[in-house]
Amino acid sequence: MSFDENNAWSLLRELASRGKRAPGTKEHRESIQYLFRIMNSLCPGTWLQPFSLQFRGNRIECANICGFIQGKDTTSTILIGSHFDTRWIADNDNDEAKRNLPIPGVNDGTSGVVIILELARVFRNILPAKNVLFVLFDAEDLGNIDGFDFSIGADYYAKSGEIKPDLVIALDMVGGKDMHLNIDVNSLSFPQSKKTFNTLFSIGRNFGYPCFYKNTIHMIISDHYPFLQKEIPAIILIDIDYPQWHTHADTIDHCSKDSLKYIGNVLFSFLMEQEIV
Ligand SMILES: [Zn+2]
Repeated sequence: MSFDENNAWSLLRELASRGKRAPGTKEHRESIQYLFRIMNSLCPGTWLQPFSLQFRGNRIECANICGFIQGKDTTSTILIGSHFDTRWIADNDNDEAKRNLPIPGVNDGTSGVVIILELARVFRNILPAKNVLFVLFDAEDLGNIDGFDFSIGADYYAKSGEIKPDLVIALDMVGGKDMHLNIDVNSLSFPQSKKTFNTLFSIGRNFGYPCFYKNTIHMIISDHYPFLQKEIPAIILIDIDYPQWHTHADTIDHCSKDSLKYIGNVLFSFLMEQEIV
């Protein structure tokens, strides 16, 4: 029993076919229920963490979706998170006329979601080394729209009284073709974050996965950042150089099953604390 990228890829196709999930839309509301049902079927006791926003004159109902799995060592908890909302605008699109329309977000957001749900399936039958808390964050990609920050849902979680993680690994844009992960300066800012980042890269390089090579340096503000502000070790695995980032071309055609496999297998090994071979 291990991470099966075919399951993750099927779910990516399914979620892509169900449409965009820009906060406040019908598809967004439906996706909360849909993703909750999947997570709850894999992690019984899954809960929603609701919150609301004022956006363009309307009250928008949002929710983080949280699932918990007990590990062999029940004294510490690793949070694996990804945003599930998709962006309202296509600010990087070449076609100026389409820049105000919502993007598909198949890599941007959805790729991390399907890796998490496949990990949740695997850990139905295998005990991870430590507790694992899966969180699908809402409202990450309202950032820089009407004055909103990025990572509203993750910020809401970090400031809530919910289970406090000892370590956070955020995922975003981890399913693109020809992916190369970034070295995020913020992820290296605490010794424990740096250690985790280096461990994940060691595992990935030992597997020979290409996304763990040719890595460019960036400073990323995303779902890991609110936890760093709370002095909780946190990192992000992301490829922000994805050419279709925040464009209408962020579709399944620009995603790769292999990329899902690379990240899924590395996280599975990390969570099992398997020897790095
Ligand atoms: Zn994103």
